Amino acid sequence: MPELPEVETVRRGLEPAMVGARFTKVDQRRADLRFPFPPRFPARLAGARVEALSRRAKYLVADLSTGESLIMHLGMTGRFTVEHAHGVITPGEFHYAPGTMPLHDHVVFDFDTGARVTYNDVRRFGYMDLVPSTGLAACKHFAGLGIEPLGNALSGETLAALFRGKIAPLKAALLDQRLIAGLGNIYVCEALHRAGLHPEAPAGIVATRTGRPRASAHRLAQEIRAVLNEAVAAGGSTLRDFAHADGSLGYFQHGFKVYDREGEPCAAPGCSGIVERIVQSGRSTFYCARCQPR
Ligand SMILES: [Zn+2]
Repeated sequence: MPELPEVETVRRGLEPAMVGARFTKVDQRRADLRFPFPPRFPARLAGARVEALSRRAKYLVADLSTGESLIMHLGMTGRFTVEHAHGVITPGEFHYAPGTMPLHDHVVFDFDTGARVTYNDVRRFGYMDLVPSTGLAACKHFAGLGIEPLGNALSGETLAALFRGKIAPLKAALLDQRLIAGLGNIYVCEALHRAGLHPEAPAGIVATRTGRPRASAHRLAQEIRAVLNEAVAAGGSTLRDFAHADGSLGYFQHGFKVYDREGEPCAAPGCSGIVERIVQSGRSTFYCARCQPR
């Protein structure tokens, strides 16, 4: 499943091909992906110019000159290929092996610049929708989503306010999409390790009784941002090198300090701990008991 940094990498790969370009033809090859396409999908896109391409949590959002926004979610195996005069790229492909079967090319966008953007999705958990650009925040996809972890909203103060009094484990609170949107298992494990916080500690420990941030809240906010930014930067490297790489693996996953490293020595400088694995809410948590004491 693509995590937020990968979606951001995909956004950066699509941006030069899509923004400022006008859809000339949309080839929709199925009635649905995970959900049905919106009615008259190709006709509503044809002729529209892409004004901006942004990201909200793990959604890509293309604002169109028609007053609608095209919302795209990659699901588990969705990916885009961009073909233009300079060659072919598949941005952001650093967690899963490429499936190059044209059978799974479900949507093809042609632009007036000559660029072609193809959406391929083997398992079809991805989806696309068109919603009015005004009131985007209230649309069914975004209503109820928590704060953006790479945005300015994430700080020690907001974490303290969100987690104050909560007895749910820190890991669970960080994965709660209603509080923080788009933060996945890998980056939560890494951020907690870097912040020196035990994944099973109650979330409320980062706040005082009155909801003020403790030092740990500031540290956690800073490490969430850092771990995501580093992953985006690594995705960018993959993107630049993509023409020469096989594309099946990126770099950042080799940089994990605890994730998927059960039984291996902790990678923190000077730490002699061993990475342990526990299961929380049915998902693996990796942590170092020395770096992250209870
Ligand atoms: Zn350690």
